[in-house]
Amino acid sequence: MNNTLQFLGATQQVTGSKFLLEYHDFRILIDCGIDMETRDEDEHPNPFDFDPKTIDVLLLTHAHIDHSGLIPLIVKEGFEGMIYCTYATYHLTRLLLFDAARINMKKAGGRKRKTRPDFYGPREVQLCLDYFQPIDFEQKTVLNDQVSFYFRTAGHLLGAAHIILETSEHTIVFSGDIGRSNYPLLQDPKPIPAADYVICETTYGMRSHKDKDPEKILSTIIHDSCVDIPGRLIIPSFSVGRTQTLLYILHRLQATGKLPPIRIFTDSPLARKSTQVYQDFVEYMNGEAGDFQQQHGSLFGFDNLIYLSDMNSAEEIDNYHEPCIVITSSGMVKGGKSEDHILRNLENSYCTILFIGYCAEGTLGRRLIDGLKTVRSLEEELRVNARIISTDVLSGHGDYNDLLDFFRTQDKDRLKAVFLVHGEAESMENFKQSLHHHGITDVTIPIHGESFTLKEAEKFV
Ligand SMILES: [Zn+2]
Repeated sequence: MNNTLQFLGATQQVTGSKFLLEYHDFRILIDCGIDMETRDEDEHPNPFDFDPKTIDVLLLTHAHIDHSGLIPLIVKEGFEGMIYCTYATYHLTRLLLFDAARINMKKAGGRKRKTRPDFYGPREVQLCLDYFQPIDFEQKTVLNDQVSFYFRTAGHLLGAAHIILETSEHTIVFSGDIGRSNYPLLQDPKPIPAADYVICETTYGMRSHKDKDPEKILSTIIHDSCVDIPGRLIIPSFSVGRTQTLLYILHRLQATGKLPPIRIFTDSPLARKSTQVYQDFVEYMNGEAGDFQQQHGSLFGFDNLIYLSDMNSAEEIDNYHEPCIVITSSGMVKGGKSEDHILRNLENSYCTILFIGYCAEGTLGRRLIDGLKTVRSLEEELRVNARIISTDVLSGHGDYNDLLDFFRTQDKDRLKAVFLVHGEAESMENFKQSLHHHGITDVTIPIHGESFTLKEAEKFV
């Protein structure tokens, strides 16, 4: 019997996580994410390299769309198994999938895109939710008489998990996305058990985070941009995860008297809904967040925080002339509200634009960080007079040292292979060399579609 592990996404790139484990004819898919990098939608409208009907169960590490975004499609294409994830992951995934469906509908504009195999709308999202089976962290779940698994806290995002999967012969660990130690709100990633196989992300396989104190850094930036210069601070931010961290830090600054009495506008309906989910899951968070909640009765609600209504929000702020902070999505500035806010303020030398997350090549965010001097908008050529700054202090991904730390519990004699995924090629190669230096020698960087046979356990007589 061939027991195999196949890599169907996030191979030598960051997005599109999909891994297929086949054990004694039982087929387990780990994550079902959208590939946002290489797939040419028009040439490859069918996003699956396998028949969804043949998958028995789906395990989801966390809610981010590059891990969950194809779930409505896999169900539409005939998958009928359970989808296991943690409770918080279920609630955040639900919000993100409905938001993705809304964007799909907007792009389709009622035209024939709707008949494409890779299209889904709110109806498909509603249908796929019936297959979700949320469970607690550490709750061992038996899939059949040879395979069981449990979720372990990974930090990174509310509900995010490592998957520890046990067959009758092996322990296999899927890292999901690995968070950082001492990150606001979230618990530290928990150590994983000694395993036979580890599938590990490598987003920051060659980088260390420089900035480590988010309260200090944000407080300085706010004073520079809204007090010393009485201007406007625009923060493009991802609505799920990053915005909650930001609001929590602002609340902490306010509670200690370090936030000037200025208005903070949050312009994203999705951010508002996911903030509610975060608030509902205080028990998943770290001790510091729990204490803060006890003391202040809320993690995110404080004076001067205003959620804007959906319509004409950028115009509403245009007419507000006092110093203020505007938190808007998306973080990379690719169309949408953040682009609207930024284009309206680009020529304003009293404006600071602060990037707090990864911006992909080609996005306006990336180009501004790289020093773009003018931006073409409709018929106009806009000069970049606003101050452009960035920090990785709020990044939810562990850096090189956190990734190495993830392996500290491994028994080198037992470990049969490590597979590196979810990173750019250079980052993977760098991290592979580092693992070699630490005595972990069987490290593979799989290519798309590659399949590996799991070694049989040694038989003891
Ligand atoms: Zn993630």
